[in-house]
Amino acid sequence: MPELPEVETTRRGIAPHVEGRTIVGVNVRQPQLRWRVPETVQGAVGCLVTAVRRRAKYLLIDTNAGSIVLHLGMSGSLTVQSQNKVVEKHDHLDIVLDDGNCLRLNDPRRFGACLWQGADEPTLKLFEGLGPEPLTDAFDAKRLYELSRGRTVAVKNYIMTNAIVVGVGNIYANEALFMSGIDPRKAAGIVSRQRYELLAQNIKTVLAKAIEQGGTTLRDFLGADGKPGYFRIQLKVYGKVGESCPQCGTAIRSLNIGQRNSFFCPKCQR
Ligand SMILES: [Zn+2]
Repeated sequence: MPELPEVETTRRGIAPHVEGRTIVGVNVRQPQLRWRVPETVQGAVGCLVTAVRRRAKYLLIDTNAGSIVLHLGMSGSLTVQSQNKVVEKHDHLDIVLDDGNCLRLNDPRRFGACLWQGADEPTLKLFEGLGPEPLTDAFDAKRLYELSRGRTVAVKNYIMTNAIVVGVGNIYANEALFMSGIDPRKAAGIVSRQRYELLAQNIKTVLAKAIEQGGTTLRDFLGADGKPGYFRIQLKVYGKVGESCPQCGTAIRSLNIGQRNSFFCPKCQR
């Protein structure tokens, strides 16, 4: 599933090809995505793209009339390619640009989305209640600490809650907790302020590193296969059940926490 770093990498990959261009068409071949693609998305036609932004895992193609809101769901990818390129299976929609290229959404599982946020319309429900972006100053240890008091939810689930902070997906939650020496099962409400300092910093570090490494695949956005290259960050515990902990050699354990696969070192994480 595309996580925040992949979405940010996609944003950086497409922005130079889309910003400053005029949208000359929105061709929807399959409107039945996670939500039906609304007719109002045609409001973008004739508009200049002023910016490509990311909020949580949504990409916003900004125009003066409003923004096209895109989500990659479980299996989606966005690529810039020639409008003349043969349409492949699962290429559900094109945002056609005035230079003959288009932004093409491919999504085999169709959990992705394409919505319209009109400039004068109330903010879409899906943006309500979102916490701060993890890589901004609005997200810090103070926030993690204060909002967690009295909460019995596992700290891993807590940091994966969008209202607390957006975009901390399963892989990055596992890695950041390992780097911080915190047992993922521990109740969020009893983690100390000092340990949240470490955790907030490590969440930022692991996400920033993943984005940085994603940057090396940007050339693939215009590649022949039209697929963004999913990058591999060097993971310490995620997916490594039974392997030796890189710090102490103890076998990495795995269990389900909140229905998500969790990996940790029983010795280093307390
Ligand atoms: Zn260990």
